[in-house]
Amino acid sequence: MMLLKLAIQKSGRLHDDSVKLLKECGIEISNNVKNQLKATASNFPLEVFFLRDDDIPQYVEDGVADIGFVGENVIYESKKNVTVTELLGFGKCRLSIAVGKNEPYPNVQCLESKKIATSYPVLLQKFLDENKVNAEIHEISGSVEIAPGIGLADAICDLVSSGSTLFMNGLQETEVILKSESALIKTPTLSGEKQRILDKLLFRIQTVKKAKNKKYVLMNAPNDKLEEIIKILPGMKSPTILPLAVEGWSSIHTVLSENDFWEHIEEIKTVGAEDILVLPIEKMVI
Ligand code: ATP
Ligand code: MG
Repeated sequence: MMLLKLAIQKSGRLHDDSVKLLKECGIEISNNVKNQLKATASNFPLEVFFLRDDDIPQYVEDGVADIGFVGENVIYESKKNVTVTELLGFGKCRLSIAVGKNEPYPNVQCLESKKIATSYPVLLQKFLDENKVNAEIHEISGSVEIAPGIGLADAICDLVSSGSTLFMNGLQETEVILKSESALIKTPTLSGEKQRILDKLLFRIQTVKKAKNKKYVLMNAPNDKLEEIIKILPGMKSPTILPLAVEGWSSIHTVLSENDFWEHIEEIKTVGAEDILVLPIEKMVI
């Protein structure tokens, strides 16, 4: 049987979320994946390879793997010939420039002739070129954040998520040069049969993604307040209204984005909604 070959990170920040996404798509791979090089799904035509994340774009370009889950930062730094097919919603971070917290940073021009330490020389050079700044790029493979403190560089260009690593090293973030999340990449040429497997996988991923920030919301409200409540909720075009056993009251059921829920919950309560329940949605096919 033809199997679609997927490369994911062996261990590190993307590993667990990659395995979790497959699971949410109903795809089962053996539990003990950490010590294996590859595993075959038991209920989907998929073979999973476990690799260093930096190697994934190369394997996918060469067709050793048909597709991969890897950070956009790694994809664009690698300059490999692969297609970004779908963003996956996890591994969110940004590639940023940072300088000492007391350094003045009026604008990007102040990087002129400075020494910048990074593991992302390609993306950094592109940013400097776009801004017509000449700076010296010092490529190092890890612990970039300590470079200014030990006198190795004037600034750094590194991945940031919460900013706590920068803070602990006395640095301030001054430019975001790339916003990144994990993406599904695809090899340049895929057989028709494999493309059909990929289409099935993509359908499942999109179904899971759509449900992710949506909630199923139920609440009770007096009948004379229904109209007002429905007006407040932006996502609530045609909610289901069911009569309660108690005369004059109804139950409102609807699907809302998590954001909309938090933004409007106080208002809904003030208008008169009670017993509000918020439930997760596992899958959403629309
Ligand atoms: P490997 O051993 O596979 O090469 P690694 O050490 O290069 O792993 P990790 O630190 O596990 O990589 O990070 C993998 C990816 O997670 C990054 O390339 C990036 O896309 C994403 N990521 C999300 N937040 C952060 C963060 N705060 N710092 C670093 N990477 C992050
Ligand atoms: Mg790596």
